[in-house]
Amino acid sequence: MDHNQIQELDARHFLQVFGRRAFVHFTGGHDAVLHGDDGKEYQDFLAGIAVNALGYSDAGFQSAVKTQVDALIHISNYFYNEPQARLAQLLCEKTGLDRVFFGNSGAEANECALKIAKKYAFAKGKQSAKFVSVQNSFHGRTVATLFATGQDKFHTAFRPGAFTFDYIPANDVEAAKAAIDGDVCGVICEVIQGEGGVLPLTQEYLQTLRDLCTQQDVALIIDEIQTGMGRTGAFLAQQLYGVQADITTLAKALGNGIPIGACLATQQFADAFAPGDHGSTFGGNPLACAAGLYVTSKIDAAMLDHVRALGVYLKEQLCAVNSDQVCDVRGEGLMVGMQLKAGKDAHDVVSQMLRKGFVIGSAGGNTLRFVPPYVIAKEQIDALKDALESVL
Ligand SMILES: *Cc1c(COP(=O)(O)O)cnc(C)c1O
Repeated sequence: MDHNQIQELDARHFLQVFGRRAFVHFTGGHDAVLHGDDGKEYQDFLAGIAVNALGYSDAGFQSAVKTQVDALIHISNYFYNEPQARLAQLLCEKTGLDRVFFGNSGAEANECALKIAKKYAFAKGKQSAKFVSVQNSFHGRTVATLFATGQDKFHTAFRPGAFTFDYIPANDVEAAKAAIDGDVCGVICEVIQGEGGVLPLTQEYLQTLRDLCTQQDVALIIDEIQTGMGRTGAFLAQQLYGVQADITTLAKALGNGIPIGACLATQQFADAFAPGDHGSTFGGNPLACAAGLYVTSKIDAAMLDHVRALGVYLKEQLCAVNSDQVCDVRGEGLMVGMQLKAGKDAHDVVSQMLRKGFVIGSAGGNTLRFVPPYVIAKEQIDALKDALESVL
């Protein structure tokens, strides 16, 4: 089927939530390079939105997944499964948290997190269902996570939503102090807001959220769905800040493309859940966990060093782009945003870059987003810089 035929079928039958998509689609890839149906190669700085951390041809990953496909794909959570038990152990080791639940996506991981926080507060006698979230955050598309998301444009048609959320400005310590009162069931935030525009929280602010949650005995939920799995050069971005969440969520890169999300909690908060309080048919099935186990075991100290070093290089090259259209370059590790001046539309730049053979993303606040596979090569970064310079 050629590109136009696919586009036509999509236009006729697919729910049109993604609108008109790109002029090219991909049929394969290697390392951090995608193969277009047009016969061209595309340098990948998006990684399927921070998912394909190991790129497109990691032989160990492919073999781990294939072996599990041949052995057993799914069995339901009525039964134990070894990849699930082993992945749970490894994630607890890497995060310092005690217990994990697996779902199929980021939003599901956050749903689990919100439910744990709510049940914990409920058990303490709190009747409220009020959470605090940060403006410009993104936490998912299910009804609860849509409202956890601190961007009003998502809410309009879907009120009243689930639970209630008070959206506080990022990096405003006084606003956090005023909002996190005895009525709140929990606080949810990202360490670096991804969809919002690659906006890092300050150390002081994140530490304030931590302290206020401790004082109120409510959960600090840190959504590491995009920032986790080594993306920022630490296994969790919160580790760069020396702040420990009560509950933290992972997804995107966890399965390197096989859908899986994880919600991790301390024993104290995990104890809020009893058998029957939560569940999933697919979540944590042997295939997804075999994928997650392989990826997680690859994110070791050497890989984190590599991400940090490449991240520094990427940021340097982006800062060196000679253009008066750029107002800021920010981020950590291989999660970097380039904010453009108001006159230059980030979406246009994304399309022009695709024409030039570069897959990049955009995010809120007119920002270009670069979240490449960790196997991105320096030469690809050099080429990105030149291409950006000519487009900007
Ligand atoms: C992508 C993302 C989500 C949602 O994940 P899905 O798998 O699309 O449900 C939630 N939080 C953050 C920070 C994300 O980047």
